[in-house]
Amino acid sequence: ALQLSVFGEKFAGQTGASSLMDDLGGALNDNPNMLFMGGGNPSRIPAMEALFAERMASMARNSDQLFGALGVYKSPQGDRAFLAALAKMLSNICGWELTERNLAISNGSQSAFFVLFNLFAGRMPDGSKRHIQLPLAPEYLGYADSGLSEDFFRSTKPTIELLEGNLFKYHVDFEALALTDATAAVCVSRPTNPTGNVISDDELQQLDRLARAQGVPLIIDNAYGTPFPNILFTDAKPFWNDNTILLLSLSKLGLPGVRTGIVVANESVIRAFSNANAVLNLASGNMGPALVQPWIESGELIQLCERHVRPHYRNKVGAALTQCREALAGTPFRVHRPEGALFLWLWFPDLPITSDELYRRLKKRGVLVVSGHHFFPGLTEPWAHQHECIRVNYGQDADTVRRGFAIIGDEVARAYSHG
Ligand code: PLP
Repeated sequence: ALQLSVFGEKFAGQTGASSLMDDLGGALNDNPNMLFMGGGNPSRIPAMEALFAERMASMARNSDQLFGALGVYKSPQGDRAFLAALAKMLSNICGWELTERNLAISNGSQSAFFVLFNLFAGRMPDGSKRHIQLPLAPEYLGYADSGLSEDFFRSTKPTIELLEGNLFKYHVDFEALALTDATAAVCVSRPTNPTGNVISDDELQQLDRLARAQGVPLIIDNAYGTPFPNILFTDAKPFWNDNTILLLSLSKLGLPGVRTGIVVANESVIRAFSNANAVLNLASGNMGPALVQPWIESGELIQLCERHVRPHYRNKVGAALTQCREALAGTPFRVHRPEGALFLWLWFPDLPITSDELYRRLKKRGVLVVSGHHFFPGLTEPWAHQHECIRVNYGQDADTVRRGFAIIGDEVARAYSHG
């Protein structure tokens, strides 16, 4: 057996994220016809794929560009010219006062979260311990195992607003949310994975005030949000200031394979991040930034999202919601109001079986979803709701989504009537 360190025991073993990814991969191997509604892959969008192909071909014909993307390490912060163009685009579009010194590239935002969380939380120089506060559970399961020490996250249960048409919506429970001297930072995904919730501009401002009052950063995970990729079906203003650490990603534009994330923060956070990134990666990958550089320089990236990405998901989410309602009619199901991202979050109040059991039954029937209980990192108090929800990726082709929901409807009805 391997003799592992404490670090090794934590990271080389099965974590929630690794077992989930294995399970998704294994299920596809076992049954190639599996209706794949788990995982976080973005949709295929033909118009975007055509643009990526054209750009790759043009890079391949230009030996200087190709060399710049493939043949050199850039600085640990990222390519200067790219960062300058991005700073200009973000200032123009969002009105933020920032320069390239406020930006850094990472190998995917996932790895940036790992670095940032551990820069702020864990054991402090004075021996005390600090944690990352998630102001609204459910929250992204990718955070769950990213702390180098135990007891790394705390999360706050939301309030639940019941809405017409079997919908519901979570809100931040500001009465329950308390920051203390043990709070290292506040972190929220907007839109939220898994729920598609978009916390309001007001809620965000209130979180900003709380974080400032406590003297800790507010981290906003913008994997799906504004200004890009803009998978948003509700109004939400872009938000950043010198106490905010905003994480952007190229993944949900249709580029998860280039592994490019972007950190937007004040200069001291960017310096700290870049130093840590040098240790872990020497430098980040150049392909993602090089691929999108022309659309950053022209600002066209925003129009591409508006023209191709947002309408694609808006159409899909509308169709998925209709199919979901038809398939689940007659059961007491609820759906979180889909305000953004790639998922429908279904809630089955008082379901006689756990969501994990429902997930297993669905997998046997050839439908892959993700059980909701994975999405409550840092929630220590018991809450039945954690075992009553599933996350469904609606980004696949229409036929897959329709067949998937039909089987979900069947299994949920059976569970309510027979347990
Ligand atoms: N944050 C959220 C909310 C996500 O859903 C994802 C991926 O699904 C990530 C971060 C990580 O994205 P990436 O590392 O591809 O930038």
